[in-house]
Amino acid sequence: MPVLLRRRVGSFVRVLAGAAGVALATNAGAQSVGPEVGPLNPKPGTVASGFLAVPAGVDSATRIPVTVIRGAQKGPTLALIAGTHGSEVAPIVAMQRLVPLVNPGELSGTLVIVHVANVPSYVHRTIYRGPWDQKNLNRVYPGKADGTISERIAAAITREVIDKSDYLVDLHAGDGNESLRPYTYWSKLGLDARVDSVALDMALAFGHDHIVIDPDRPKDRNASLYTQNTAQVRGKPAITTETGWLGVADPTMVQKNVDGALRLMRYLKMLPGPVELVKNVVWIDRTQVVTSPASGAWIAAVDRNDHVAEGTLLGRVHDLHGKVLAEVRAPFAGVMLYVVGTPAMSAGEPVAFVGRVGVGPR
Ligand SMILES: [Zn+2]
Repeated sequence: MPVLLRRRVGSFVRVLAGAAGVALATNAGAQSVGPEVGPLNPKPGTVASGFLAVPAGVDSATRIPVTVIRGAQKGPTLALIAGTHGSEVAPIVAMQRLVPLVNPGELSGTLVIVHVANVPSYVHRTIYRGPWDQKNLNRVYPGKADGTISERIAAAITREVIDKSDYLVDLHAGDGNESLRPYTYWSKLGLDARVDSVALDMALAFGHDHIVIDPDRPKDRNASLYTQNTAQVRGKPAITTETGWLGVADPTMVQKNVDGALRLMRYLKMLPGPVELVKNVVWIDRTQVVTSPASGAWIAAVDRNDHVAEGTLLGRVHDLHGKVLAEVRAPFAGVMLYVVGTPAMSAGEPVAFVGRVGVGPR
């Protein structure tokens, strides 16, 4: 464990990482160095990894792997949450890579990394929904401590991560079946102009050049449903990023997640270095999840990132003997944010996500 050397800077005590030894107490009570996250409360300039416990209830227990990097300097708390959907693995691998890249001696504030929010979904390789309760973790926030496993995970993350953070990124990717091009959701909730504005800057700082303007996320603190706006309704600027595809940890997508996190930490002044905001943004002002009219085998006719016209053939659903049951066409002109890239298909499930290119807020 590194020793921490104290040095007075201005009116507060600055704590710097040093050689081996035990952390020294600062002037007790005079400064709050950052939140405890579950059992993790690392001293300034140090890192701690462990688990948030989610005790058994109506179904089995799980635990959520978390790393807390406590900066040597004071600053805000940023939460990065990966694995809300367990097959969205590029962000999960990226968060493992990120930990050794963040030098706590150089960090201002606290970085809270949730490595895999939804371990049951991850280990059982499910898409969309958890394996035990068939619920979508990103639709049950703020969760219920006495609910099913997805609800209990959400309650633990709300209490131990969201409520203790100042800023949040929910890091998604194309799910195990989704061939996705990178983009970021920005939600203008209209509850707090500062939260909306900082969230927009966070989207620009993360680095994806396609930003989906999503005005429809719930504003009800008790039924916020999604991770991101659970933070936003609590006054914490937040974004949802989508980086990766088809259940694989593609190296370029892993790197984009790492780069996005580092760029965001520079924007928040948690790390030194120049702030970069995306300049040429493709703003997406209307989106539609296109769903399948039939069950069978989906064969896409377009790729992620293709631009399509209204009526462009997106793909066909075949029956299980190979006969075409239905053709699916684009509802309006736009860019393919994702296309389902695997055949298994149920009626009513998504086949693609189309975004219309529009005008941005700035
Ligand atoms: Zn997801």
